Amino acid sequence: MLKMLKPTLSTGSVTTSKRFGDTTRGSRHERGYGTTWDKLRLRILARDCHLCQPCKAAHRLTAGRIVDHKTPKAEGGTDDPSNLQTICQACHTAKTAAESARGRRGGG
Ligand SMILES: [Zn+2]
Repeated sequence: MLKMLKPTLSTGSVTTSKRFGDTTRGSRHERGYGTTWDKLRLRILARDCHLCQPCKAAHRLTAGRIVDHKTPKAEGGTDDPSNLQTICQACHTAKTAAESARGRRGGG
């Protein structure tokens, strides 16, 4: 009997092994973040496909590697995934500036 050779189907899984250079070192622990935050951060990055969410909302696809609190903790925000989002450096800088300006002005 002759064996029929079936063509092997490749599942075509694409592994995205993009590496974002991690230039920020240390200092994170001083701000009260530890392993828990690290794990959470990775989860949020994966959830958001490493794309900056504010940029995405503006129809721009920008890679982000910062996980940011939508509502800052200083303003009552939590570490809940629903309050976390991936953002890029540019958005983070703009957001942080706006927040510190608010914090300086606002008396709560
Ligand atoms: Zn952005």
